[in-house]
Amino acid sequence: MSNKPDERLDRRDFMIASVATIGASAGLVANAASASAEASTQNAADPASATVYTGDVIQGRKVVSALDVQDLEPGKKHHLYFQGVEMPTGQHWYVSVTVAKGARPGKRVVLVSGVHGDEMSSVHTVQTLMNSLDPAQMSGAVMAVTDVSRPAMEGMQRRWPNAGRGADLIDMNREWPGNENGLTAPSRHAGLLFNRLLRPNADAAIDFHTGTTGFEVTAFNIGGMDVPEVKAMVELYPVGQVFDNHVYPGVLHNAFMDVGIPAFTPEIGAARVLDRGMIALFVEGTMNVLKHHGIVAGPMGRTGKDVSVFIGNSAFPIVATEGGLVEHLVRLNDKVEPGQKVAIQRNSFGEVVAEYISGVAGEVTGQRSDAMAEPGNPLVFILFHKDDGPDRAETYPE
Ligand SMILES: [Zn+2]
Repeated sequence: MSNKPDERLDRRDFMIASVATIGASAGLVANAASASAEASTQNAADPASATVYTGDVIQGRKVVSALDVQDLEPGKKHHLYFQGVEMPTGQHWYVSVTVAKGARPGKRVVLVSGVHGDEMSSVHTVQTLMNSLDPAQMSGAVMAVTDVSRPAMEGMQRRWPNAGRGADLIDMNREWPGNENGLTAPSRHAGLLFNRLLRPNADAAIDFHTGTTGFEVTAFNIGGMDVPEVKAMVELYPVGQVFDNHVYPGVLHNAFMDVGIPAFTPEIGAARVLDRGMIALFVEGTMNVLKHHGIVAGPMGRTGKDVSVFIGNSAFPIVATEGGLVEHLVRLNDKVEPGQKVAIQRNSFGEVVAEYISGVAGEVTGQRSDAMAEPGNPLVFILFHKDDGPDRAETYPE
């Protein structure tokens, strides 16, 4: 469980990138050289082993380009901006960082939201949790980042509008752990955040999401329940579904897992809105996780033992085969049987053109909330248990 980034790999990537863009990359060369020099004077393999203040102050908050929460004053809350990727104007995207630094030493938990820009309940969950912490009574530290994909959040949309090679929309939750010298801004932004902010401050990490615009999900957690440290945390949520699956590379919680940091992803209902009822469940569960790690004292709140939890290891997708208006016949969290009709679709004349049935026994975990659909749109995801084990690389609407 090393915390050292693979510098050799980074350098090789950089060499390839600089050869490919020779003449245009003088700034990158200079920056990389200074970063290398900085790294060698501190810790050859870990450029993020100490906090770096850029000297800038934005809206009264200090800017860092690297953070070690151990450098922050204990027993206090700290609000900082992390300097993310540079934009075409030469300015940077800054992300908001809140650290509750306990009065005593202890474990460090990282809470992330805003990897997708339209998932507001995830942001509010993290804010509510941070606002309820009293650092004077804490051990260790909790660090929250609430607007990772800044340009996506500015437009309250899922993906990052990237201009590098013409207009482009990039899903930042396919980019982790990123590459500081990558070809796109989201890749570089992910690399900066992961290497210099998130990974160096995490003994455990939680990356909060919701469904996406046009596709609503219920409350559930995604995590590999075969990993004891992950299972121990996920079971502390009073939330009715668990998607026990390692999903695919490129998502943030798997980037943490790949470097030995236990991590998982809560899903908190619909995009674009605040679901106060679901938010409360995830705040309670996350507070339980902080108690589990000894960061916060006190009795556990409600956990998975206090609710009925359905655990599935696969999500059965039902995909539209026609265009038209979709009428759902089941609701989120309903149990369904194989052969059960779950939705119908009508054409512009009001005629039924498609009927959709479940192929599995399970529980409804997500539904298209935009009423119009075209062929290929996912309409329903049904969480179920697959006896021969889950597929890697399953898609789901995180
Ligand atoms: Zn998401």
